[in-house]
Amino acid sequence: MDSTYANILDGKALAQRIQAQLADEVAQLLSTFGRPPGLAVLMVGDNPASAAYVRGKERACAKVGIASFGRHFPTNTSQTELEQTIEALNQDERVDGILVQLPLPNHLDAVSLLHQIHPDKDADGLHPVNLGRLVRGESGLRSCTPAGVMRLLREYQIDIKGKQAVVVGRSILVGKPMALMLLEADATVMIAHSRSQNLKELTRSADILIAAIGRPQFITADMVKPQSVVIDVGINRVCDSSGQSRLIGDVHFDTVRDIAQYITPVPGGVGAMTVAMLLHNTVLSYKRTQS
Ligand code: NAP
Repeated sequence: MDSTYANILDGKALAQRIQAQLADEVAQLLSTFGRPPGLAVLMVGDNPASAAYVRGKERACAKVGIASFGRHFPTNTSQTELEQTIEALNQDERVDGILVQLPLPNHLDAVSLLHQIHPDKDADGLHPVNLGRLVRGESGLRSCTPAGVMRLLREYQIDIKGKQAVVVGRSILVGKPMALMLLEADATVMIAHSRSQNLKELTRSADILIAAIGRPQFITADMVKPQSVVIDVGINRVCDSSGQSRLIGDVHFDTVRDIAQYITPVPGGVGAMTVAMLLHNTVLSYKRTQS
């Protein structure tokens, strides 16, 4: 019965191919310009999930030859110290990308720190200048997770133009830039959120459904249009009955794959692409400083 299942959009495999291409490009850039691209990931506190993400990003940097200038600060670090660190990294010519790992401890103002990163070093694409460029359809550093989704859709030659796309979630990190990128690719876009009425009716109208909600297995088969494309951005850590912790998405994968045409797995879907896009942005910033 396997043939009736949706095709898997394999983000992990595509991310590995992108990283291999970036590694070749970085080796060439290093021999031409004499220094590797550099990325600084700033982490504050001991959130274990954040620590795992930061380790993953630094490992990926090492694999493609990007130098890491990351710093890990104790929980009680002040806003001023972080501002000074970002300012120093803005000036540091070895550093092409700066990323503040979220969430931050409550006493810190994350938005003001993100605004302090120079827009040309905004590896996460979350600075208002880069979001503004996205709104205007100008080139710039694109927010990594939605950019990763777009790259995955392109890789599998999924038709976006004129299609009905529904994004569930309106965060500045995922939902809003995702909707703008789909619009840029000529989809007809709708954004749904926690106050949306008749959510099921909306999601069932989607040729392309993006779940960026943060609620485990929220999107069930009855909410999905047959033969649609379902992209699961959610990453939720849950404990199973044996007490083992594992990651699951916002989509009920086991039932939705029976009716969708394409689906992303969690893990191995969008998450892997996010890291690949972060590296891509860092190399892009580097190339802009050299040209
Ligand atoms: P967020 O800031 O908490 O936003 C969640 C969005 O979902 C909000 O817009 C919220 O609506 C909406 N929502 C919540 N409950 C809903 C409901 N019952 N019905 C409809 N909409 C609902 O989360 P986020 O940062 O966007 O992240 C979303 C998920 O993606 C999380 O699981 C996160 O871990 C994951 N994520 C994954 C990656 C990756 O690389 N794969 C990257 C970033 C995030 P309101 O605005 O009305 O509250």
